[in-house]
Amino acid sequence: MTVKHRICVVVGDITRLDVDAIVNAANNSLLGGGGVDGAIHRAAGPELLAACRDLKGCETGDAKITRAYQLPAGHVIHTVGPVWHGGNADEPELLRSCYGRSLEIAKEYELRSIAFPCISTGIYGYPKQQACDVAVSTVIEWLAQNALPEAVTFCCFSEDDGQLYRARLG
Ligand code: ADP
Repeated sequence: MTVKHRICVVVGDITRLDVDAIVNAANNSLLGGGGVDGAIHRAAGPELLAACRDLKGCETGDAKITRAYQLPAGHVIHTVGPVWHGGNADEPELLRSCYGRSLEIAKEYELRSIAFPCISTGIYGYPKQQACDVAVSTVIEWLAQNALPEAVTFCCFSEDDGQLYRARLG
């Protein structure tokens, strides 16, 4: 039984998505940064930063959840992707762990829908095709073994990223 009907690809701003959880590509401090993290904090309002302060940071490859405050989404799952150092510093395992831990937390909170940005492929420099392969394979494996979350959205910020994901999903 295929799980691909539980996956969709959209091109757009993840802060606009009305899903049970959006995933934030944060840094280890969880205290805000650029890229998608900056956009999420701007759109969620200052309460998100206050909630993140209580979390006392996050290890690379791990994830932590907060409410989403002014966002249309229900929760924000903050994960910390690896910085790309050439591929021999556990980058694929750490990136896989970001997707896996985010999905585990979504299941634990009984969330039905989750949206991921292209973690690590901005400031952290992870090659986009390789990151897409890790993201899609990890999500497909999860969905094959778990009923929750029911639906996963890959929220790409560029049409080029959208093409990569659509091609990978066939
Ligand atoms: P990282 O530090 O993990 O590389 P970035 O935020 O720099 O995180 O980039 C991760 C991905 O998020 C990139 O593909 C970037 O284009 C994308 N991105 C940036 N802003 C948004 C947004 N508002 N919605 C969705 N994706 C975004």
